Order: sequence, then C-alpha cells, then structure tokens
Amino acid sequence: MSNLLTRQCQCLHCQQSSEHPDQLLHRQLNVLLAYLNGQQRPWVAAIVSNFLGSGGVELVSQITGLPPKTTQLLHKSSGSATG
Ligand SMILES: [Zn+2]
Repeated sequence: MSNLLTRQCQCLHCQQSSEHPDQLLHRQLNVLLAYLNGQQRPWVAAIVSNFLGSGGVELVSQITGLPPKTTQLLHKSSGSATG
C-alpha cells in the first residue's frame, strides 16, 4: 500500500486498546500531513485546531506532534476571531 511513515497519535483515545471513532480521524490527519511539506503542515494543523475550537490547539499538537506554539501563531497571523 503506502510506504509513507505516519506519526502515531499520542492522544488518550488512540492510546487505549479499544476502538474509538476519533482514532480514524487522527490517523487520517497524520496521513494527510505526511504528504505535505514543512511549510504546509502547520497551516493544516492550525485550520483543524480552529475547527475543534476550545482545546483544539493542544489536541492537534498531540495528534500531529507539532508544537502548540506553531498553530497558535498561525491562528493569530490569520486574524481568526477569538471568543
Ligand atoms: Zn488520537
């Protein structure tokens, strides 16, 4: 199938032995990021964390391994509304 090396998500749902619906989403996000270059990855992570809302930055950091600071900076620079 694919030779892409994808990151293993470090969130609680993916660490548990039983199946969880979020596991598929997190795996898919890491597969997507594996196709992107270093400049594109933080942007996708920031967009996803924005969709997730509160706590999204930390969760996406757990999923992708990108530092929370990276996605937070992009939130600010893209002028996203807060509140
Ligand atoms: Zn996960």
